[in-house]
Amino acid sequence: MSPDSTFPTFVEINLAALRHNFRQARSQAGAERKLLAVVKADAYGHGIGPVAVCLQDEGADLFGVASVQEGQQLREAGIDRPVVILGGFFPGQEEALLRHRLIPILFDVETARRLNQVALANGQVCPFHLKLDTGMGRVGFRPEELGAVLAEMAAWKGLRLEGVLSHLALADAPQDPLTSRQYETFCGMLQQIRDAGHQPLWVHLSNSAALFAHHLPACNLVRPGIVLYGALPSDAFAGRLDLRSVMSWRTHIYQLKQVPVGTGVSYGHRFKAERPSVLAAIPVGYSDGYSRRLSGCGEVLVRGQRARVAGTVCMNWTMIDVSDIPGVQVGDRVTLLGGDGDNCIGAEELAAKAGTISYEIFCQVSKQIPRLYHDDR
Ligand SMILES: *Cc1c(COP(=O)(O)O)cnc(C)c1O
Repeated sequence: MSPDSTFPTFVEINLAALRHNFRQARSQAGAERKLLAVVKADAYGHGIGPVAVCLQDEGADLFGVASVQEGQQLREAGIDRPVVILGGFFPGQEEALLRHRLIPILFDVETARRLNQVALANGQVCPFHLKLDTGMGRVGFRPEELGAVLAEMAAWKGLRLEGVLSHLALADAPQDPLTSRQYETFCGMLQQIRDAGHQPLWVHLSNSAALFAHHLPACNLVRPGIVLYGALPSDAFAGRLDLRSVMSWRTHIYQLKQVPVGTGVSYGHRFKAERPSVLAAIPVGYSDGYSRRLSGCGEVLVRGQRARVAGTVCMNWTMIDVSDIPGVQVGDRVTLLGGDGDNCIGAEELAAKAGTISYEIFCQVSKQIPRLYHDDR
């Protein structure tokens, strides 16, 4: 099935590309490590249900989401693999967490005690993963806290330690020595946990960057996110990974106008025609997630060729300079992100111009824009 363009603006999700990227991650992980597919934040804006169903079919072993709500969405989409909540959960969400068989990550004692109480009251033993702060400086128990946590854990009869994890702060800078320091800290804490009599089933540390740049033999599970969606963890990986972009964002030319030299365009007249120009209005702006920072510098594809944003990106409109595109017509397809013909606008390109990272480019594409899925196998 090929997506049609009855929508004025739409996002195409290429599930065949998603499968390809998943297989790249799988082969990098090797036979001895399992794969937790990170589908948090609505699968980085790609749509959590269809993405997870595709990855489950492809053989993802576990899934990682940001919240109890996202875990519930996976269950409703028919995901039966283990689902780990990488984010937090809040007082009152314990029942839902247990009902949907979600696996929490615990990094504070209060939350653990509360969950323990609710699990006991339900006659359940809830598996959990223990989050360690080995240098990310965000959430997780720090090395000096671990002893006290292990001592208290013995009393949590409604909980069962099933996994141990930490998160890396600089894995996307492969030369940085912090990653090996974090790994050593992690191994030391893991030993302390084992010495206390625990045998965690899962030991994990690697995001996409670490999966492709670091060998961390203590781990038996990896947690790739961004590479599944076909983008690089950072420029350090340019040319080193065989990935295909999954998301293409398309709209069309709504109106064309011919303007004489000197015409000012859009708010602030930040574009002034230096030649007789053909300008096109496209019905997409920053409210759709097309960053205002792309004003005057973003490029889109029309008829397979690049055209530049003319002036300021507005809330619902953007003007583009199509003077150099022969045969351009109202209704022509415009690609804001993704490929058209031999050309491609990568998330990395938009991110560099907008002063952010590909992750944010994906997440910002408005949820109001329909996602159309196709899977050319
Ligand atoms: C988001 C996230 C990941 C995935 O990171 P990528 O850089 O997208 O591969 C892995 N682990 C945790 C804890 C995360 O929050």
